[in-house]
Amino acid sequence: MAAVKACNILITGANRGLGLEFVKQLLKDSSQKQHIFATCRDPDGPKSEVLRELTKKHPNVITIIRLDADDPCSIKESAKKVGSLLGKCGLNLLVNNAAKMANGNIQTSSVEDMKNTFNTNVIGPLLIIKEYLPYLQAAAKASGIPGMSSNKAAVINISSLGGSMTRMPPMYIQFPELPYCISKAGFNMLTVLAAEEFKADEILCMALHPGWVKTEMGGEKAPLESKESVEGMLRVIGSLTEKQHGGFLDYTGETIPW
Ligand code: NDP
Repeated sequence: MAAVKACNILITGANRGLGLEFVKQLLKDSSQKQHIFATCRDPDGPKSEVLRELTKKHPNVITIIRLDADDPCSIKESAKKVGSLLGKCGLNLLVNNAAKMANGNIQTSSVEDMKNTFNTNVIGPLLIIKEYLPYLQAAAKASGIPGMSSNKAAVINISSLGGSMTRMPPMYIQFPELPYCISKAGFNMLTVLAAEEFKADEILCMALHPGWVKTEMGGEKAPLESKESVEGMLRVIGSLTEKQHGGFLDYTGETIPW
């Protein structure tokens, strides 16, 4: 059961995988006040069909917004559109979930894979945070509650063990995903530095590892189903306070070393 009570929520990469599961589970527990901005890069394409169907059933709760993390113009336009719909309460919860995977080691990783993963997994979220920051600040101000929480104003960066300097090296030979891991390490640094910048505004910012999950990215061998991972992540997100600000947790709430 989702413990997240944020009013206005935005999720990137919401058309499939963990992003879509976030939307489904938030819907189950949605109050009349809650609104979900489900963003994806191709709202009219075949990969967004399930999200479109879900939106037809819940038109007052979900709005689909086009957002391509690789395209700064689309990020700007999405923020304008969402801003026009938000009203004074602002944006309470931004989930940076969209990401790209690329395999390879030092011998085999291409320049293209390095650039593409860095674009989607680091520069994209950086620009998304930048464009949506005024709405997060508005939410933090409007809440009138002291301290930090995901119901007030928060940025949740869906990261990976792959970005942990401590936890990835022992797994690297089995999972040679060098471009992806380096991009997620960059994403982790973005999380820590954004957390520093957001302290004064009381906007919570942290990184969350979903576990190894059966999605297109995680593959068939993954031990976790999306349902279990997202249930866990929503429980963690709902329980966050300033203690976890600038931190790195997994879907069970355990702290991961950087
Ligand atoms: P999937 O590959 O199943 O889904 C990825 C999502 O990201 C899709 O919605 C995809 O959209 C979207 N996306 C990719 N590139 C862009 C872009 N340029 N702009 C906008 N959206 C984009 O991955 P998961 O659902 O498994 O992963 C979700 C998050 O969890 C990621 O951040 C991933 O790194 C992280 N993670 C996942 C693990 C796992 O085991 N599954 C393990 C550790 C971390 P489209 O349909 O258009 O391609």
